[in-house]
Amino acid sequence: MMDLLVTGGAGFLGSSFVRHVIAHTDHRVTVLDKLTYAGNRASLAGLPENRVRLVVGDVIDPDVVDPLVEAADMVIHYAAESHNDRSLSAPRAFVDTNIVGTLTLLEAARRHGTRFHHISTDEVFGDLALDDPARFTEGSPYNPSSPYSSTKAGSDLLVRAWIRSFDLPATVSNCSNNYGPYQHVEKFIPRQITRILRGLRPQVYGSGENIRDWIHVDDHSAAVLAILERGSIGETYLIGAEDERSNLEVIELILSLMGLPSTAYDHVADRPGHDRRYALDPRKIRTEVGWSPQHEHFTSGLAQTIEWYRANPSWWAPTIAGDEA
Ligand code: NAD
Repeated sequence: MMDLLVTGGAGFLGSSFVRHVIAHTDHRVTVLDKLTYAGNRASLAGLPENRVRLVVGDVIDPDVVDPLVEAADMVIHYAAESHNDRSLSAPRAFVDTNIVGTLTLLEAARRHGTRFHHISTDEVFGDLALDDPARFTEGSPYNPSSPYSSTKAGSDLLVRAWIRSFDLPATVSNCSNNYGPYQHVEKFIPRQITRILRGLRPQVYGSGENIRDWIHVDDHSAAVLAILERGSIGETYLIGAEDERSNLEVIELILSLMGLPSTAYDHVADRPGHDRRYALDPRKIRTEVGWSPQHEHFTSGLAQTIEWYRANPSWWAPTIAGDEA
Protein backbone atom coordinates (compact mmCIF):
# COMPACT_ATOMS: atom_id res chain seq x y z
CA MET A 1 0.00 0.00 0.00
CA MET A 2 1.45 3.36 -1.07
CA ASP A 3 0.54 7.04 -0.92
CA LEU A 4 0.24 8.54 -4.39
CA LEU A 5 0.16 12.25 -5.17
CA VAL A 6 -1.82 12.77 -8.40
CA THR A 7 -1.65 16.31 -9.77
CA GLY A 8 -4.55 17.33 -12.01
CA GLY A 9 -6.59 14.46 -10.57
CA ALA A 10 -9.87 16.36 -11.02
CA GLY A 11 -9.34 16.54 -14.80
CA PHE A 12 -10.26 14.06 -17.53
CA LEU A 13 -7.24 11.77 -17.48
CA GLY A 14 -6.26 12.31 -13.84
CA SER A 15 -9.70 11.38 -12.48
CA SER A 16 -9.74 8.22 -14.62
CA PHE A 17 -6.36 7.29 -13.17
CA VAL A 18 -7.60 7.87 -9.60
CA ARG A 19 -10.65 5.65 -10.22
CA HIS A 20 -8.36 3.01 -11.75
CA VAL A 21 -5.98 3.04 -8.77
CA ILE A 22 -8.86 2.77 -6.29
CA ALA A 23 -10.38 -0.16 -8.21
CA HIS A 24 -7.17 -2.11 -8.84
CA THR A 25 -4.82 -1.44 -5.88
CA ASP A 26 -4.99 -0.65 -2.17
CA HIS A 27 -3.04 2.62 -2.55
CA ARG A 28 -4.23 5.91 -1.08
CA VAL A 29 -4.43 8.98 -3.31
CA THR A 30 -3.99 12.68 -2.64
CA VAL A 31 -5.16 14.79 -5.58
CA LEU A 32 -3.56 18.23 -5.98
CA ASP A 33 -5.71 20.25 -8.35
CA LYS A 34 -6.26 23.98 -8.84
CA LEU A 35 -9.82 23.31 -10.09
CA THR A 36 -9.41 25.57 -13.12
CA TYR A 37 -12.33 25.71 -15.59
CA ALA A 38 -11.13 22.20 -16.65
CA GLY A 39 -11.11 20.64 -13.19
CA ASN A 40 -14.31 19.27 -11.68
CA ARG A 41 -14.82 17.98 -8.14
CA ALA A 42 -17.74 15.93 -9.46
CA SER A 43 -15.29 13.79 -11.44
CA LEU A 44 -14.12 12.33 -8.10
CA ALA A 45 -17.61 11.85 -6.63
CA GLY A 46 -18.35 8.51 -5.03
CA LEU A 47 -14.74 7.51 -4.33
CA PRO A 48 -13.97 6.29 -0.78
CA GLU A 49 -13.13 9.23 1.49
CA ASN A 50 -10.63 7.19 3.49
CA ARG A 51 -8.56 6.59 0.33
CA VAL A 52 -8.99 9.74 -1.79
CA ARG A 53 -8.38 13.30 -0.61
CA LEU A 54 -8.58 16.47 -2.73
CA VAL A 55 -6.22 19.37 -1.98
CA VAL A 56 -7.17 22.47 -3.95
CA GLY A 57 -3.93 24.24 -4.85
CA ASP A 58 -1.54 25.29 -7.60
CA VAL A 59 1.37 23.16 -8.80
CA ILE A 60 3.48 26.27 -9.24
CA ASP A 61 3.31 27.05 -5.50
CA PRO A 62 6.29 25.43 -3.69
CA ASP A 63 4.67 25.93 -0.26
CA VAL A 64 1.74 23.78 -1.33
CA VAL A 65 3.75 21.28 -3.37
CA ASP A 66 6.68 20.53 -1.07
CA PRO A 67 4.88 18.97 1.93
CA LEU A 68 2.59 16.95 -0.35
CA VAL A 69 5.55 15.54 -2.29
CA GLU A 70 7.39 14.82 0.98
CA ALA A 71 4.41 12.80 2.24
CA ALA A 72 4.03 10.80 -1.00
CA ASP A 73 5.73 7.60 -2.17
CA MET A 74 5.10 8.51 -5.82
CA VAL A 75 4.06 11.60 -7.76
CA ILE A 76 2.02 11.17 -10.95
CA HIS A 77 1.96 14.50 -12.72
CA TYR A 78 -1.14 15.02 -14.86
CA ALA A 79 -1.85 18.71 -14.12
CA ALA A 80 -1.58 20.91 -17.17
CA GLU A 81 -3.29 23.52 -19.25
CA SER A 82 -4.38 21.12 -21.97
CA HIS A 83 -6.38 22.83 -24.71
CA ASN A 84 -4.63 23.75 -27.97
CA ASP A 85 -7.16 26.43 -28.95
CA ARG A 86 -6.83 28.22 -25.60
CA SER A 87 -3.03 28.07 -25.90
CA LEU A 88 -3.26 30.15 -29.09
CA SER A 89 -5.33 32.91 -27.47
CA ALA A 90 -3.79 32.93 -23.95
CA PRO A 91 -0.41 31.15 -23.85
CA ARG A 92 0.92 32.49 -20.53
CA ALA A 93 -0.98 30.08 -18.29
CA PHE A 94 0.48 27.22 -20.36
CA VAL A 95 4.04 28.34 -19.62
CA ASP A 96 3.21 28.88 -15.93
CA THR A 97 1.46 25.57 -15.26
CA ASN A 98 3.11 23.25 -17.76
CA ILE A 99 6.71 24.46 -17.38
CA VAL A 100 7.01 26.28 -14.04
CA GLY A 101 4.58 23.84 -12.40
CA THR A 102 6.61 20.86 -13.58
CA LEU A 103 9.82 22.53 -12.39
CA THR A 104 8.26 23.09 -8.94
CA LEU A 105 7.27 19.43 -8.66
CA LEU A 106 10.64 18.19 -9.93
CA GLU A 107 12.51 20.28 -7.37
CA ALA A 108 10.32 18.94 -4.56
CA ALA A 109 10.77 15.35 -5.81
CA ARG A 110 14.54 15.91 -5.97
CA ARG A 111 14.64 17.23 -2.40
CA HIS A 112 12.73 14.22 -1.09
CA GLY A 113 13.99 11.54 -3.53
CA THR A 114 10.41 10.78 -4.60
CA ARG A 115 9.54 8.51 -7.55
CA PHE A 116 8.08 10.74 -10.27
CA HIS A 117 6.00 9.94 -13.36
CA HIS A 118 5.35 12.63 -15.93
CA ILE A 119 2.28 12.45 -18.19
CA SER A 120 2.77 13.89 -21.64
CA THR A 121 1.44 13.82 -25.17
CA ASP A 122 2.45 12.60 -28.63
CA GLU A 123 1.93 16.21 -29.79
CA VAL A 124 5.50 17.00 -28.66
CA PHE A 125 6.70 15.26 -31.86
CA GLY A 126 4.76 17.59 -34.18
CA ASP A 127 2.77 16.06 -37.02
CA LEU A 128 3.18 13.70 -39.96
CA ALA A 129 1.96 14.14 -43.53
CA LEU A 130 -1.38 12.37 -44.14
CA ASP A 131 0.27 9.96 -46.60
CA ASP A 132 3.44 9.39 -44.53
CA PRO A 133 3.55 5.72 -43.37
CA ALA A 134 5.91 6.61 -40.44
CA ARG A 135 4.89 6.50 -36.76
CA PHE A 136 6.51 8.25 -33.81
CA THR A 137 8.81 6.25 -31.52
CA GLU A 138 10.51 7.08 -28.21
CA GLY A 139 13.52 8.31 -30.25
CA SER A 140 11.63 10.68 -32.58
CA PRO A 141 12.87 14.28 -32.48
CA TYR A 142 10.72 16.91 -30.75
CA ASN A 143 9.02 19.33 -33.15
CA PRO A 144 5.95 20.82 -31.39
CA SER A 145 3.55 23.10 -33.28
CA SER A 146 1.37 24.95 -30.74
CA PRO A 147 2.02 26.83 -27.50
CA TYR A 148 0.36 23.84 -25.74
CA SER A 149 2.59 21.19 -27.28
CA SER A 150 5.72 23.32 -26.97
CA THR A 151 5.15 23.76 -23.23
CA LYS A 152 4.58 20.01 -22.87
CA ALA A 153 7.81 19.41 -24.81
CA GLY A 154 9.60 21.82 -22.47
CA SER A 155 8.27 19.98 -19.43
CA ASP A 156 9.36 16.59 -20.83
CA LEU A 157 12.87 17.92 -21.39
CA LEU A 158 13.00 19.22 -17.81
CA VAL A 159 12.12 15.73 -16.53
CA ARG A 160 14.80 14.15 -18.74
CA ALA A 161 17.35 16.68 -17.42
CA TRP A 162 16.40 15.95 -13.80
CA ILE A 163 16.88 12.22 -14.48
CA ARG A 164 20.27 12.79 -16.12
CA SER A 165 21.65 15.57 -13.91
CA PHE A 166 20.19 14.65 -10.50
CA ASP A 167 19.42 10.91 -10.80
CA LEU A 168 15.75 11.63 -10.15
CA PRO A 169 13.89 8.28 -10.13
CA ALA A 170 11.50 9.30 -12.90
CA THR A 171 9.71 8.02 -16.01
CA VAL A 172 7.84 9.81 -18.81
CA SER A 173 4.93 8.67 -20.96
CA ASN A 174 3.63 10.28 -24.14
CA CYS A 175 0.11 9.22 -25.05
CA SER A 176 -2.06 9.65 -28.12
CA ASN A 177 -5.57 11.22 -28.14
CA ASN A 178 -7.81 9.94 -25.34
CA TYR A 179 -11.59 9.57 -25.40
CA GLY A 180 -14.09 8.46 -22.75
CA PRO A 181 -16.31 9.81 -19.95
CA TYR A 182 -15.56 12.97 -17.92
CA GLN A 183 -13.78 14.81 -20.78
CA HIS A 184 -14.37 18.56 -20.92
CA VAL A 185 -16.85 19.63 -23.64
CA GLU A 186 -14.21 21.85 -25.26
CA LYS A 187 -12.48 18.74 -26.68
CA PHE A 188 -13.35 17.22 -30.06
CA ILE A 189 -15.42 14.12 -29.22
CA PRO A 190 -17.48 15.45 -26.25
CA ARG A 191 -18.03 18.70 -28.13
CA GLN A 192 -19.65 16.85 -31.03
CA ILE A 193 -21.68 14.54 -28.76
CA THR A 194 -23.00 17.38 -26.57
CA ARG A 195 -23.83 19.54 -29.59
CA ILE A 196 -25.99 16.73 -30.97
CA LEU A 197 -27.59 16.17 -27.54
CA ARG A 198 -28.47 19.91 -27.54
CA GLY A 199 -30.02 19.69 -31.03
CA LEU A 200 -27.05 21.41 -32.76
CA ARG A 201 -25.04 20.19 -35.75
CA PRO A 202 -21.47 18.97 -35.14
CA GLN A 203 -18.70 21.22 -36.48
CA VAL A 204 -15.45 20.06 -38.00
CA TYR A 205 -12.34 22.21 -38.41
CA GLY A 206 -11.29 22.66 -42.07
CA SER A 207 -11.60 19.61 -44.31
CA GLY A 208 -11.65 17.18 -41.37
CA GLU A 209 -8.99 15.00 -42.99
CA ASN A 210 -6.71 15.36 -39.94
CA ILE A 211 -5.88 11.97 -38.46
CA ARG A 212 -5.68 11.19 -34.74
CA ASP A 213 -4.61 7.96 -33.03
CA TRP A 214 -7.36 7.20 -30.44
CA ILE A 215 -7.13 5.38 -27.09
CA HIS A 216 -9.77 4.86 -24.40
CA VAL A 217 -8.87 6.83 -21.26
CA ASP A 218 -9.15 3.69 -19.06
CA ASP A 219 -6.48 1.98 -21.19
CA HIS A 220 -4.23 5.01 -20.68
CA SER A 221 -4.75 4.79 -16.90
CA ALA A 222 -3.90 1.08 -16.90
CA ALA A 223 -0.74 1.82 -18.90
CA VAL A 224 0.40 4.46 -16.39
CA LEU A 225 -0.14 2.09 -13.45
CA ALA A 226 1.78 -0.60 -15.36
CA ILE A 227 4.72 1.80 -15.83
CA LEU A 228 4.71 2.60 -12.09
CA GLU A 229 4.74 -1.12 -11.29
CA ARG A 230 6.99 -2.52 -14.01
CA GLY A 231 8.61 0.35 -15.96
CA SER A 232 12.35 1.08 -15.80
CA ILE A 233 13.54 4.26 -14.11
CA GLY A 234 14.80 6.86 -16.56
CA GLU A 235 12.77 5.52 -19.49
CA THR A 236 10.17 7.10 -21.76
CA TYR A 237 7.20 5.06 -23.01
CA LEU A 238 4.79 5.88 -25.83
CA ILE A 239 1.20 4.82 -25.06
CA GLY A 240 -1.24 4.22 -27.91
CA ALA A 241 -3.87 1.77 -29.12
CA GLU A 242 -2.95 1.91 -32.83
CA ASP A 243 -6.38 3.17 -33.87
CA GLU A 244 -5.93 5.96 -36.44
CA ARG A 245 -9.03 7.75 -37.71
CA SER A 246 -9.73 11.01 -39.52
CA ASN A 247 -11.86 13.59 -37.74
CA LEU A 248 -14.50 13.12 -40.45
CA GLU A 249 -14.65 9.39 -39.78
CA VAL A 250 -15.14 10.07 -36.05
CA ILE A 251 -17.93 12.61 -36.66
CA GLU A 252 -19.70 10.28 -39.07
CA LEU A 253 -19.48 7.43 -36.56
CA ILE A 254 -20.86 9.62 -33.73
CA LEU A 255 -23.76 10.72 -35.96
CA SER A 256 -24.63 7.18 -36.97
CA LEU A 257 -24.36 5.89 -33.37
CA MET A 258 -26.75 8.70 -32.37
CA GLY A 259 -29.22 7.74 -35.11
CA LEU A 260 -28.58 10.71 -37.44
CA PRO A 261 -27.54 10.93 -41.12
CA SER A 262 -23.75 10.75 -41.37
CA THR A 263 -23.68 14.00 -43.41
CA ALA A 264 -25.44 16.15 -40.76
CA TYR A 265 -22.40 18.30 -39.83
CA ASP A 266 -20.84 21.65 -40.86
CA HIS A 267 -17.28 22.67 -41.70
CA VAL A 268 -15.81 25.69 -39.85
CA ALA A 269 -12.56 27.64 -40.44
CA ASP A 270 -9.47 25.61 -39.53
CA ARG A 271 -7.34 26.20 -36.42
CA PRO A 272 -4.01 27.96 -37.26
CA GLY A 273 -1.15 25.45 -37.51
CA HIS A 274 -3.57 22.51 -37.11
CA ASP A 275 -1.49 19.28 -37.01
CA ARG A 276 -2.27 16.86 -39.84
CA ARG A 277 -1.57 13.37 -38.53
CA TYR A 278 -0.41 11.84 -35.25
CA ALA A 279 0.49 8.16 -35.06
CA LEU A 280 2.65 6.38 -32.56
CA ASP A 281 4.36 3.04 -32.25
CA PRO A 282 3.65 1.54 -28.79
CA ARG A 283 5.81 -1.60 -29.17
CA LYS A 284 8.15 -0.66 -26.29
CA ILE A 285 5.45 -0.49 -23.60
CA ARG A 286 3.80 -3.63 -24.99
CA THR A 287 6.99 -5.71 -24.92
CA GLU A 288 8.95 -4.22 -22.01
CA VAL A 289 6.09 -3.40 -19.59
CA GLY A 290 3.58 -6.00 -20.75
CA TRP A 291 0.65 -3.60 -21.23
CA SER A 292 -1.91 -3.79 -24.02
CA PRO A 293 -5.23 -1.97 -24.50
CA GLN A 294 -8.44 -3.71 -23.39
CA HIS A 295 -10.85 -1.46 -25.32
CA GLU A 296 -10.04 -3.01 -28.70
CA HIS A 297 -13.11 -1.61 -30.47
CA PHE A 298 -13.33 2.15 -30.94
CA THR A 299 -16.99 1.88 -32.01
CA SER A 300 -18.12 0.21 -28.77
CA GLY A 301 -15.94 2.54 -26.62
CA LEU A 302 -17.45 5.50 -28.45
CA ALA A 303 -20.99 4.15 -28.01
CA GLN A 304 -20.39 3.82 -24.23
CA THR A 305 -18.98 7.37 -24.16
CA ILE A 306 -22.07 8.73 -25.95
CA GLU A 307 -24.29 6.93 -23.41
CA TRP A 308 -22.30 8.43 -20.54
CA TYR A 309 -22.81 11.98 -21.87
CA ARG A 310 -26.50 11.24 -22.51
CA ALA A 311 -26.89 10.03 -18.90
CA ASN A 312 -24.84 12.78 -17.22
CA PRO A 313 -25.94 16.25 -18.42
CA SER A 314 -25.59 17.48 -14.81
CA TRP A 315 -21.81 16.90 -15.15
CA TRP A 316 -21.30 18.67 -18.51
CA ALA A 317 -24.17 21.16 -18.99
CA PRO A 318 -22.80 23.74 -16.47
CA THR A 319 -19.51 23.90 -18.42
CA ILE A 320 -21.14 24.72 -21.78
CA ALA A 321 -21.64 28.46 -21.18
CA GLY A 322 -17.98 29.07 -20.25
CA ASP A 323 -16.79 27.05 -23.21
CA GLU A 324 -18.92 28.86 -25.78
CA ALA A 325 -17.73 32.23 -24.41
P1 NAD B 1 -7.74 18.43 -18.35
O1 NAD B 1 -7.68 19.84 -18.86
O2 NAD B 1 -9.03 17.68 -18.43
O3 NAD B 1 -7.28 18.38 -16.82
C1 NAD B 1 -6.23 19.14 -16.33
C2 NAD B 1 -6.38 19.22 -14.81
O4 NAD B 1 -5.25 19.97 -14.30
C3 NAD B 1 -7.63 19.98 -14.38
O5 NAD B 1 -8.28 19.27 -13.34
C4 NAD B 1 -7.10 21.32 -13.88
O6 NAD B 1 -7.90 21.92 -12.86
C5 NAD B 1 -5.73 20.93 -13.37
N1 NAD B 1 -4.79 22.07 -13.36
C6 NAD B 1 -4.56 22.95 -14.36
N2 NAD B 1 -3.64 23.86 -13.96
C7 NAD B 1 -3.27 23.52 -12.70
C8 NAD B 1 -2.35 24.07 -11.77
N3 NAD B 1 -1.62 25.18 -12.05
N4 NAD B 1 -2.21 23.47 -10.57
C9 NAD B 1 -2.95 22.35 -10.25
N5 NAD B 1 -3.85 21.81 -11.10
C10 NAD B 1 -3.99 22.38 -12.30
O7 NAD B 1 -6.59 17.68 -19.12
P2 NAD B 1 -6.44 16.13 -19.50
O8 NAD B 1 -6.97 15.92 -20.86
O9 NAD B 1 -6.93 15.31 -18.37
O10 NAD B 1 -4.85 16.02 -19.59
C11 NAD B 1 -4.08 15.69 -18.43
C12 NAD B 1 -2.63 15.50 -18.83
O11 NAD B 1 -2.54 14.49 -19.83
C13 NAD B 1 -1.99 16.73 -19.42
O12 NAD B 1 -0.67 16.80 -18.94
C14 NAD B 1 -2.01 16.49 -20.92
O13 NAD B 1 -0.93 17.14 -21.54
C15 NAD B 1 -1.84 14.99 -20.95
N6 NAD B 1 -2.38 14.31 -22.14
C16 NAD B 1 -3.70 14.43 -22.48
C17 NAD B 1 -4.19 13.73 -23.57
C18 NAD B 1 -5.66 13.80 -23.96
O14 NAD B 1 -6.04 13.22 -24.99
N7 NAD B 1 -6.51 14.46 -23.18
C19 NAD B 1 -3.34 12.92 -24.33
C20 NAD B 1 -2.00 12.81 -23.94
C21 NAD B 1 -1.55 13.49 -22.84
